[in-house]
Amino acid sequence: MKKVVKFGGSSLASSEQFKKVGAIIRADHDRRYVVPSAPGKRFSDDTKVTDMLYACYDAAEKGEDFSAQFEAIKERYNDIIKGLKLDLSLEEDYAVIEKNMKEHAGADYAASRGEYLNGKIMAAYLGYEFVDPAEVIMFDEDGDFMPLRTNKLMAKKLANLENAVIPGFFGAYINDGKIKTFSRGGSDITGSIVARAVEADLYENWTDVSGFLVTDPRVVENPKSVDIITYRELRELSYMGASVLHEDAIFPVRVAGIPINIKNTNRPSDKGTLIVAATSQKSENIITGIAGVKNFIAVDITKDMMNSEVGFCRKVLSAFEDNGVSIEHMPSGIDTMTVIVKQDAFQPKEQMILSAIQRSVKPDSIEIETDLALIAVVGRSMRAVAGISAKIFTSLANANVNVKMLDQGSSELNVIIGVNNKDFEAAIKAIYNAFVK
Ligand code: ASP
Repeated sequence: MKKVVKFGGSSLASSEQFKKVGAIIRADHDRRYVVPSAPGKRFSDDTKVTDMLYACYDAAEKGEDFSAQFEAIKERYNDIIKGLKLDLSLEEDYAVIEKNMKEHAGADYAASRGEYLNGKIMAAYLGYEFVDPAEVIMFDEDGDFMPLRTNKLMAKKLANLENAVIPGFFGAYINDGKIKTFSRGGSDITGSIVARAVEADLYENWTDVSGFLVTDPRVVENPKSVDIITYRELRELSYMGASVLHEDAIFPVRVAGIPINIKNTNRPSDKGTLIVAATSQKSENIITGIAGVKNFIAVDITKDMMNSEVGFCRKVLSAFEDNGVSIEHMPSGIDTMTVIVKQDAFQPKEQMILSAIQRSVKPDSIEIETDLALIAVVGRSMRAVAGISAKIFTSLANANVNVKMLDQGSSELNVIIGVNNKDFEAAIKAIYNAFVK
C-alpha cells in the first residue's frame, strides 16, 4: 500500500504539533510521501507564516527595511528545529531568501518559502528525501497548471524514492523556472498531485477538524460530520461555500479514482471523512450536506408566448455573456425566465445588461430581486427517496421562510433553494433539523 499524507498549517505550527505528525507517520509504513504546509497559527490570534512572508515581501518591494519581519519568520522555524532537537541549520537558506527578497524575486517566491523551509525541517525530522516542487510541478507561460507534464515529472522523480517530503503550495513556470504558487490553501492540490503520480491507494489530508461537516458550524451548533461523500457531492457543496479542501484538490485524484481521507491531527483515531468516486453506502441522513452563499440577484424576464420564440434564451444569455457576467442558475416557466447571478458581478454592469435585453427580446417586463441567498441541499441518496422536496418545504414553511426560487438538477443530486438573505441561517437550521437526527 502507498499513502500520501498532507498536513495543514495548524498541524505543523509548532514543534509539539510536528511531534504529533511524526507519530502519525511512523505509525504506518504505508505513509511514504509527505506534503507539508507552512507553519500555521499556534493560537487563534497568531499569524500564519505564509501571511508573515507576504507582509515581509511587501515591505521589501517598497524598499523598506524588513529585517525585523524576517527575523520573526526565522524565529518560527528555529523554534521548531530547537523543539525537535534537530541537528539542522537553515541559515544558508535564510540568507538566500533574504537576498532574493531584496532583489524582488516576487510575492509567489516569498510565500512559497513557507512550505519550502517547513519541508526541509520535515525531511530532516523524518529522515526522508527532500524533493523541490520547482523541479516537478509545472505551470505554462500564462500561469496555468500543467497536469500531464507535472504528472510525468513527479512520477519519474518519485519512482525510485521509497519515502519523500514534497512541500505543498508551489511549483515553477516551465519557461523560466520562476516560482509560482497555487491560490491560498493550495498545498491540498500538491497532495493530490503527488497521490496521482505515485498511484497511491489513499490520499490522507490531515487538518484540525475530524472531517467534513454536514453544514457550517457557524450556522448550526456542532453539526454532525460526514463519514463518506462522493467527489461530485463535495464539488457541489464546495462551490456553495463549504470548505474543508481546496476546490481544485479533487481533480488530480479524481482522474485516478484515489480516495481522500480527511483526518484530524489532534484526534488521529477519529475516522474522519472519506471522499470517493462512488459508493454503495447510503448517506446516513438521506442528505449528505447543506451549504449556501448569500448575495445573488434574480433577473426575471416575462414575455407572452416566450416559449415559441426561437432564440429567446440565447439572446437573453448573450446580454450577460457580452458583459462578462457568469450565470449561476436559470429556472424558467412558460412565459418567464429567471437568470440568477452574483450581485457583485452584476451590479457594475446592470444598465448595460438590461438595455441589451430590452433591445434584443423586447420583453413585457423585467423585474429584479436583490439580496437572495442560495442554499444547496446535496445528497446522492435523494434520488431513491420520495418526499424529499416536501420535507424541505415543510421545514422551511414551519420556520416561516419564504422560498423565492427552486432549482433541481436532473441528476437529482441536489436541490437549490433561493431565500432572502435575512432568512439564510433560519433556512439552513430548519433543513438540518428536518433531516439530521
Ligand atoms: N501556506 C499556504 C496558505 O496559507 C498554502 C497552504 O497552507 O495550503 O495558503
